[in-house]
Amino acid sequence: SLRWSLSGLTALVTGGTRGIGHAVVEELAEFGATVHTCSRNETELNERLQEWASKGYKVTGSVCDASSREQREQLMEKVSSVFDGKLNILINNVGTNIRKPTANYTADEYSKLMATNLESAYHLCQLAYPLLKASGVGNVVFISSVAGLVHIFSGSIYGATKGAMNQLTKNLACEWAKDNIRVNCVAPWYIRTSLVEHLLSNKEFMDCIKSKTPLGRVGEPKEVSSLVAYLCLPAASYITGQIVAVDGGMTVNGFT
Ligand code: NDP
Repeated sequence: SLRWSLSGLTALVTGGTRGIGHAVVEELAEFGATVHTCSRNETELNERLQEWASKGYKVTGSVCDASSREQREQLMEKVSSVFDGKLNILINNVGTNIRKPTANYTADEYSKLMATNLESAYHLCQLAYPLLKASGVGNVVFISSVAGLVHIFSGSIYGATKGAMNQLTKNLACEWAKDNIRVNCVAPWYIRTSLVEHLLSNKEFMDCIKSKTPLGRVGEPKEVSSLVAYLCLPAASYITGQIVAVDGGMTVNGFT
């Protein structure tokens, strides 16, 4: 039924060549959406675009460093021309991390994390707003982190960018409700991707993660993309301003 379909809708997913973004591109395409994505590595992007074309998914892409204001503007111009000035779905997925004790961060590291994780998402929302509005039914989903809800030893700048993203979700949900744009946020705990591969291959680290997680394991990208797609469906039409953890129960585990 139409309540459970994204057929005929258009989507921009940032950072779609690997990890969570890659799973989101495929999930939205499987629900019938036409998707545009971006990443910084042209070779990898073209490989993914070919794979998607052979699977029958409708996906286009451009090279874009989402931490650059100029490249974000170029990206949205491209999206506008590909989708005829209308966009139904914006998934702000790009994000990175540098893990250090707070006292050791340099000014450059602070700026890099802020630009990549927070400013990119904020500015893409600004740029997408006229397109989301023009589409008639808009949806924004932020990929935040449980690091924006609780302390998880992932570094304070990362936590601050994700905490800000969580609040941005609530502000935009209220501000843009009148334009029929819903805004929600997904906050994962450890998900097996290239971002955290080096951590998860360490047995002691993995044992520690498992001990904090009621479900006793890390998550897979598909376990995040399913919620992202759900939030964009007509079936979720009364859900806005929410931050949903995808964390195997970690954030409710209390003093165990
Ligand atoms: P990955 O590093 O595995 O994938 C990131 C994707 O984004 C790649 O396609 C990458 O391609 C692209 N990307 C990274 N930086 C940029 C940039 N500046 N401009 C354009 N594209 C970029 O990350 P994950 O899938 O793990 O993470 C995705 C999101 O999920 C992030 O916001 C992260 O904070 C969040 N998250 C992840 C968790 C995890 O455990 N994995 C847990 C909680 C949240 P390329 O490098 O070629 O540009």
